Amino acid sequence: MSPLYPWRAPQAVTQLAQWGQQYYPALAQELLAETGIDIEYTPSGMLHLDVDERDQAQRWAGQAKVRLELLSGSALKESEPALSAQSALYFPHVAQVRNPRLLSALKASLLQQGVRIEEHCEVTGLAVARGKITGVETARGVIPADQVMVAAGAWSGKLLGAMGVELAIAPVRGQMILFRAWPGLLRHIVVRAEHYLIPRRDGRVLAGSTVEQAGFDCSTTAAALAELKQAALEMVPVLAECEIERHWAGLRPGSEHGIPTITAHPGIRGLYVNSGHFRNGIALAPASARLAAGLMLNRPAIFDGAAYAIPAGSGAVNLSRQDRL
Ligand SMILES: Cc1cc2nc3c(=O)[nH]c(=O)nc-3n(C[C@H](O)[C@H](O)[C@H](O)COP(=O)(O)OP(=O)(O)OC[C@H]3O[C@@H](n4cnc5c(N)ncnc54)[C@H](O)[C@@H]3O)c2cc1C
Repeated sequence: MSPLYPWRAPQAVTQLAQWGQQYYPALAQELLAETGIDIEYTPSGMLHLDVDERDQAQRWAGQAKVRLELLSGSALKESEPALSAQSALYFPHVAQVRNPRLLSALKASLLQQGVRIEEHCEVTGLAVARGKITGVETARGVIPADQVMVAAGAWSGKLLGAMGVELAIAPVRGQMILFRAWPGLLRHIVVRAEHYLIPRRDGRVLAGSTVEQAGFDCSTTAAALAELKQAALEMVPVLAECEIERHWAGLRPGSEHGIPTITAHPGIRGLYVNSGHFRNGIALAPASARLAAGLMLNRPAIFDGAAYAIPAGSGAVNLSRQDRL
């Protein structure tokens, strides 16, 4: 779990990512013990091919105190024989988890702890009275609550816009494909330009991803399939022998510089936001959740969260809307 180009990430993103990198191994063990679900935390390491920003990467690695190696020739061939590239930057500290399993495990853990989860139930609005949150309006009626966290991904802007805060969170479509390869074909996460490959333990290889402005349209396209396949085969030619098992699209919550908003609402007591993680929501999740929970429970913060506040001038609080209940 890491931003794709860690040296390009703003410090506010790096800070969340690094906290998550420390925390994920323990989280994986905890979830396995609690739920029996293995989220497949795997420290695969990340190889960057054909990078022309070596100096920036090295400077960043020095500042961030992470190991970075240059692999070339036989050393690269030995560690990743299927690659076509001749040299790579290697970040050994980068790990991965299997995200659908992470979600299943978190859900199972919450259910075991007695948390009620309402699925397939659209939140249509937030109920507010006299400047304080009183609940959420849903397709199944109002659910009363003293505290509400808006964590609705790309849709967060819509919900918060109705509360008078214009958050710059917009949908950014990403498409991916999945190759049915074999274990050992690829050992590391491999990145080249905007594309990457992630080898799973069972041999499957994820190839991502497009970055598209398509509004809330979540469909897949033939052009993206062709682009992803070509980029994957350029990195690892032997993938041409593997069946493409799946092709799907998702919406990222795009935000300025990819910095999420994790904060209390400036005008409505009891309302919080945790959204805008763009391309790094899985990597940043543990620290974001911990910061957000700290705000709600009034606990000491894991670090200064000022960088994740709603920027000044993001919209006035609309009182008539607030007081409608
Ligand atoms: C192709 C692709 C590849 C990615 N790869 C990575 C990666 O390698 N590493 C990484 O860290 N991140 C990755 N991401 C980004 C990551 O998936 C997101 O940053 C993350 O999912 C954001 O989490 P979230 O909970 O804020 O939003 P979401 O995951 O979008 O969850 C928001 C949820 O809120 C629900 N919702 C929205 N509105 C309402 C409403 N009104 N009522 C009820 N429910 C509502 C939605 O249905 C959804 O279930 C990738 C994303 C894509 C699309």
